[in-house]
Amino acid sequence: MAAIRTILVVGGGTAGWLAAGFLAKTLGTQGGGVAITLVESKEIGIIGVGEGTFPSIRGTLSVLGIDEGRFIRECNATFKQGVRFNHWVRPPGARGADHYFHPFSQPSQRPGGPELLPYWLLGAAGDGVPFAAAATMQKHVADMGHAPKRTGDADFHGPLNYAYHFDATAFARLLASHAQTLGVRRIEATVDQVKLGAGGAIASVVTREAGELTADLFIDCTGFAARLIGGALGSPFRNINDTLFVDRALAMQVPYDRPDAPIPSYTISTAHEAGWTWDIGLHERRGIGYVYSSRHTNDDRADQLLRQYIGPASDGREPRLLKLNVGYRETQWVKNCVAIGLSGGFLEPLESSGIGLIEAATYLVSYLFPHDGNLAPAAKLFNAQMKARYERIVDFVKLHYCLTQRTDSSFWTDNADPSSIPESLREQLAMWRTRAPHRLDFVTDIEMYPPSSWQYVLYGMEFPTRMLAHPSTLPDATAARREFQTIAQLSHHALADLPTHRALVEHYRRQGKPTFAPSGSQWLRQRA
Ligand code: FAD
Repeated sequence: MAAIRTILVVGGGTAGWLAAGFLAKTLGTQGGGVAITLVESKEIGIIGVGEGTFPSIRGTLSVLGIDEGRFIRECNATFKQGVRFNHWVRPPGARGADHYFHPFSQPSQRPGGPELLPYWLLGAAGDGVPFAAAATMQKHVADMGHAPKRTGDADFHGPLNYAYHFDATAFARLLASHAQTLGVRRIEATVDQVKLGAGGAIASVVTREAGELTADLFIDCTGFAARLIGGALGSPFRNINDTLFVDRALAMQVPYDRPDAPIPSYTISTAHEAGWTWDIGLHERRGIGYVYSSRHTNDDRADQLLRQYIGPASDGREPRLLKLNVGYRETQWVKNCVAIGLSGGFLEPLESSGIGLIEAATYLVSYLFPHDGNLAPAAKLFNAQMKARYERIVDFVKLHYCLTQRTDSSFWTDNADPSSIPESLREQLAMWRTRAPHRLDFVTDIEMYPPSSWQYVLYGMEFPTRMLAHPSTLPDATAARREFQTIAQLSHHALADLPTHRALVEHYRRQGKPTFAPSGSQWLRQRA
């Protein structure tokens, strides 16, 4: 067993550059570190979509050493406090709530105070108050156009939890330039052939422009092409189109109606007859796409629907069509090759799992890194953990669909059909019919989405839990009621301290880094 001294990352999209930079930072490239080279093809290019993230990205940027101001300026970035789901429960015009919100902040819980969900289910927050509005002030703050943090808060910190929206191409560019300052060597060349050695491991890749490249460990970041893990090593792809139906996307970028238009600090996900649109507000433009099922509609109708959604701003613009391989490889680390990014798998972008999975895979490679060359145990653990993550994300995404009350198209009735729902999710839903989901339902180390995300979506989709708990197990009704009242009051007070979203973004764009101290309100810090 020879020590791992060299890594070749093949592919330079978000996955390739994020992995290369993170490994350079955490393993070191000098002295006893590892030599990291990244090869990317000028001809093939990157996919260039993927504009919504999950809060984990703040930790990743911080480890990489990219400051928040630079990131916001260079990536045309804005803040994301969650996702607003329009018409997922019922179609437009039907009686009842027309949207729900999935905020990133956890339900408020005072030390020693009651967990709020069971009391919300028993009606302690008042009639008709959505769980997300009752349990955290974030929904109100986001609805009112305010930001999750103040201008003086430190990088990556704020009273409310947040992620970002950004320009995917600019993000890959920023990661590339930063990773090279961390010691990653870049080669521009196209890989034409992958050579295997005697034991079936990858021996080298042969490029058109830069000859043959060898390494101890190869990281396949070649996107949907999966040149190494799929093409050369044949790791099977598990298609999950029978559970998650959407398999095509039409994407378009459009300007705002006016330069000072409010920028939503959440992704707007609107359900349609055969899929859903994402609507993401960057500083200088909106990114909009329709993700749909080719079994339930066709490309012409999808184009028409996207244009209807966007309105006149779509005139004269052509959307980009993307065909999606929906699923993942159950084995993403084979011999001396690890797949990170789209080469490992793709799940629809409903909850921004793509970049989150890249981060998760990168952390795992870094922490499990087999310095001594003993690859098999690290690969085994990595594969088990990534497979479990994918399975849980599939369940979480399906949760958004399977509870719909929509019957206006076969896309929605097929989605609610129990045969399309994974057994693991069906079992959990059965339990939650008579008791609230609890954090012990979740093996938190492999969950990308915390229990609160499941709760917000479950009750946003109006799941009927009929609590059968004995009243003695819920003794804090008065405290819970008081807490709900406090959250409602704070939601209003918060607006005085938190700038509007546009103002915060423009502050970062002007100044890069915060230059003055936080305003005096202690409460926001205490309530984070
Ligand atoms: P790519 O960006 O495709 O990069 C592949 C790289 O491999 C390129 O540099 C290319 O040059 C190189 N390459 C390929 N073949 C060769 C070769 N033979 N030789 C040399 N180099 C080669 N994720 C989110 O987190 N949030 C979202 O909101 C989101 N929305 C999405 C919407 C859509 C429609 C799609 C399709 C995906 C979305 N994703 C989202 C996923 C996200 O886009 C990807 O996870 C992310 O961009 C990473 O892509 P990648 O780096 O794996 O692949």
